[in-house]
Amino acid sequence: MLPVIHELPTPPGFERLIFAEEKDCGLKTYIAIHSTACGPAAGGCRMWNYDSDEAAKEDVLLLAKGMTSKNAIAGLGLGGGKSVIVGDPKTDKSEDLLRAFGKVIQYLNGSYFTAEDVGTSPEDMAIVAQETPYAVGLNGGNFASGDPSPFTAEGVFQCLKAGAGNVFGTENLKGKRVLVQGLGHVGMSLVEKLHANGADLIVSDINASLVDHAVAEFGAKSCASENVFDTDMDIFAPCALGGILTHETVEKLTAKLICGAANNQLANPLIADEIQKRGITYLPDYVVNAGGIINAAGEILKQGNQYRDERLKQITSRIRDIMVLSDQTGKTTIQIADEMVDDILLQATQKEGAA
Ligand code: NAD
Repeated sequence: MLPVIHELPTPPGFERLIFAEEKDCGLKTYIAIHSTACGPAAGGCRMWNYDSDEAAKEDVLLLAKGMTSKNAIAGLGLGGGKSVIVGDPKTDKSEDLLRAFGKVIQYLNGSYFTAEDVGTSPEDMAIVAQETPYAVGLNGGNFASGDPSPFTAEGVFQCLKAGAGNVFGTENLKGKRVLVQGLGHVGMSLVEKLHANGADLIVSDINASLVDHAVAEFGAKSCASENVFDTDMDIFAPCALGGILTHETVEKLTAKLICGAANNQLANPLIADEIQKRGITYLPDYVVNAGGIINAAGEILKQGNQYRDERLKQITSRIRDIMVLSDQTGKTTIQIADEMVDDILLQATQKEGAA
């Protein structure tokens, strides 16, 4: 049986917003399609213990819009969308819930492809995929792309080095104090790469066992969550959740470079100006963290590794271009990236209109 599906009023600038629920398994999910100008929408499924349904709705809208930018600038031929499931992934997730979610994805009939995100995994996607072919990031099967996180971490790492080259005059990270906030799938993989390249690591996570692991394995210093912005550092790598760059945190930040995987790091667009005024280089999140969706796109579009590898390399050259253009024009890096996205979307819309 299909969960109960509510087509919600479409917010300005979006194409579709639905809410679906099934009482028996406890499913409550919002799915937002922001844009299909470049192709079918694609973006992961986040499961999170939101404070309210309204908070979940706000999050899915912000994340879906970010996916349009990320997929467009990465040249994937995919649009932007996202799904969130309201609930604690540790206690509320079940096979029935994931299968019910899969039925909702199937109801959208290929206009949106889902994958794992915070709170979901390739194993979860394998269950979702029993109900729909529009779930990717699988561990097995033709073109299976598996866990996107290592690819995301590699893209962030390469951009972080490029950023260091621009800011400190050298890509050599030896002795650079890098604070990694969030030691999940991406953060821990990034920590490993930074350690191998001689960075002086400071780590923070609300999960103490992950902090202990990074301290023991990679010689990192630990930092309590509430002290992150009071800590001296050269580079800040946010790899937990979004909204962490606020007026208050940016004012305190000692880092000269911000480069991390978390989506929607800027609490609002004006923060980019404050960051720039403080002489800090911010590498736009949706540009640097595209490795995972690039990997998943190979599965969606049934492409081999060459498709993925070419686009992964382009992340770093794009970030270099953005830094150069920002230096030349005085515009913020996010302004430059957003303008690139607007051009791509305009061209896609014109092409669609002409067809
Ligand atoms: P994850 O769930 O594996 O890890 C997130 C980590 O952040 C967890 O260990 C959690 O305990 C920690 N955390 C949460 N709140 C925190 C806080 N206040 N302070 C410190 N730590 C905190 O998620 P992930 O897959 O590693 O993704 C990390 C971020 O990168 C997310 O914002 C995600 O949307 C984004 N992202 C991930 C991918 C990917 O491929 N996984 C791709 C693009 C963007």
